[in-house]
Amino acid sequence: MFLEIEKKGQEPLVFHREIPVGKLVRQELETILVGSVRIQGQVLPARDGFLLRGRLQASTQIPCSRCLEPYIFSLETEVIRIYVSGQEPGAEIPAGERKLPADEIPLARFDGRRIDLLRLAEEQVFLDLPLKPVCREECRGLCPQCGVNRNLMSCLCRSERIDHWFGALGNLLNRS
Ligand SMILES: [Zn+2]
Ligand SMILES: [Zn+2]
Repeated sequence: MFLEIEKKGQEPLVFHREIPVGKLVRQELETILVGSVRIQGQVLPARDGFLLRGRLQASTQIPCSRCLEPYIFSLETEVIRIYVSGQEPGAEIPAGERKLPADEIPLARFDGRRIDLLRLAEEQVFLDLPLKPVCREECRGLCPQCGVNRNLMSCLCRSERIDHWFGALGNLLNRS
């Protein structure tokens, strides 16, 4: 999905788009976008390019880092980029090349005609995913010994270990 900005003048270009379902993969963490990604905002002419500023809403399905079960993580976030035209659309710009005053605004290259909203949305969703996603605060995760999902089942691993430890302690005490 592209946002055409080739013919725009000095007026802000206001946009509101829905990008259909997709699928993202971040390293081994499979992230599925659920429903559509909504992105709205405006594009303004800026020095050397265009400033895009808006909001993005998406629902993702990601695996919990504790129990590994997929769950729905919804995000709503601000998105801001300065687009400068270059030979390779979307290529990273080396830090030394950044001549714009607002250094803290991420720079992105584009072909001078249209902005790739899908690429922007995917990039932004990745940035805003939690590093250690947790399905819910009280998630008990997997048993490190037998691998059972402790939200669904209980296992005896831990209590066995404690019994064993108390047993050993008891033996020591009895011996003295
Ligand atoms: Zn969990
Ligand atoms: Zn266990």
